[in-house]
Amino acid sequence: MSNWDCIIVGSGPAGLGAAFYLTDNKPGIKILIIDKEKYSTGGLRNDCKMNFTFPIGFPLEYWTKDRAEYYLEKVQKILSPPHMEKFNLDIYQKRAENLGTQLLSVKQSHLGTDGGLRLIKELVARLESRGVEFSLGEEAVSINEEKKILTTNQTERKYENIIISPGRKGFKFLQNVMNSIDIPYVDNIVDIGIRVETQLDLYPIVKDYYDPKFLFPGKVRTFCTNSKAAYVVQEKYTTSDGDNYYSVNGHAWSDPGKENNLVNFAMLRTLKLTKPVASGQKFAEILGLQAQLCGGGRPIMQRVGDFRLGKRSRKETFNNDLYNFQPTLKGCTPGDISLIMPNKILRSIWKSMKILDTITPGILHPSTIMYYPEIKMYANKPEFIDEYFQAKKDMYLIGDGAGTSRGITGAWASGIRAAEGIVKKIS
Ligand SMILES: Cc1cc2nc3c(=O)[nH]c(=O)nc-3n(C[C@H](O)[C@H](O)[C@H](O)COP(=O)(O)OP(=O)(O)OC[C@H]3O[C@@H](n4cnc5c(N)ncnc54)[C@H](O)[C@@H]3O)c2cc1C
Repeated sequence: MSNWDCIIVGSGPAGLGAAFYLTDNKPGIKILIIDKEKYSTGGLRNDCKMNFTFPIGFPLEYWTKDRAEYYLEKVQKILSPPHMEKFNLDIYQKRAENLGTQLLSVKQSHLGTDGGLRLIKELVARLESRGVEFSLGEEAVSINEEKKILTTNQTERKYENIIISPGRKGFKFLQNVMNSIDIPYVDNIVDIGIRVETQLDLYPIVKDYYDPKFLFPGKVRTFCTNSKAAYVVQEKYTTSDGDNYYSVNGHAWSDPGKENNLVNFAMLRTLKLTKPVASGQKFAEILGLQAQLCGGGRPIMQRVGDFRLGKRSRKETFNNDLYNFQPTLKGCTPGDISLIMPNKILRSIWKSMKILDTITPGILHPSTIMYYPEIKMYANKPEFIDEYFQAKKDMYLIGDGAGTSRGITGAWASGIRAAEGIVKKIS
């Protein structure tokens, strides 16, 4: 069995960030990156908006402004993103402030899903030219911490260091690892909300600011805005009991041929549950399953017009008479979000939508579609033994799955930070 200096589980931005830093600082280091998918690499495949301003994507319990900025500079050096200009920011900010809302000014770039795919190819080729090996379609199953052996669905692999960055979709694997080798943890937050889809002309701010980050009172925020050639998608999740549910999401293409002049973005409410709730994730999963039940196996969609009248949406509501655009996520079930979403979450999101409609009038047009659920889950928060996200000796847990980031750039930064810990240790 060959012995790897470092095995990285997950080829998303967190894993790639770690690999770049390690090969930059320890040329010749033997690195293997495995990913359960047959292609590389994680979340860079979706829309690829990159945010380069703290605190976007950086959970405050792990990052100070100075520390995040130190790593963001390194992230920019590798990804060299073309930054987008923003216009009329002060006007929107003033309006927001008057309503107790903050509009963050964030340095952004946007490659689109197609641009993201090109970037991935380039990054993988760069890493391969440095001697990094990839094994795609290989799934990490368990870890023997004492023998330093990773068991996958194909073989056993020996390592000196292991970086586990399986993303949000792999948070269960991470949770199992923590349980099996007694890594202490505390319950994490969950984000629950909806995805809003409307015509670009009804949310024209996106022409001035591609992904406007609003922070509303009541722990609600806008998240992941996509426009011009924008589509809502669904992701399948499996609960610990083996049941499936869908969470919606969104992305956009840069290809003008795919333009539909729509925009979509999430309105998320952050929830931190306290005792006696044993698990925030379980709570979120139950909400996902409940939506699945009411939607007959699909996410729910409702027009704002119906919602305001307290009516469920029906198939007939989705016609071209009053509403001149069709949902981009086909096959969702027209229904009533207020029947399914916990009232406290729904009330704060609806209030925030009214604020948003006052800042940039339009989104409460009756044609606007609200999709439910959009759920963001993270593994429980590990207790790290050092500042480099080391959770057990020579084992590092990073990225969105471990809750050390919430986005591409934060994930990449957490990869660098873990790799920095490894380099310091072996130097
Ligand atoms: C539709 C969509 C659009 C998004 N748009 C944006 C955006 O525009 N901007 C932004 O900043 N963020 C966006 N995100 C979020 C972003 O993708 C994540 O924040 C980021 O990718 C997290 O990086 P990561 O490396 O932690 O995990 P990931 O990118 O999720 O990578 C984890 C990898 O680990 C692999 N894996 C999981 N379990 C195992 C296992 N057991 N064995 C082997 N491999 C495993 C997965 O297959 C995956 O490739 C979007 C996400 C989605 C789903």
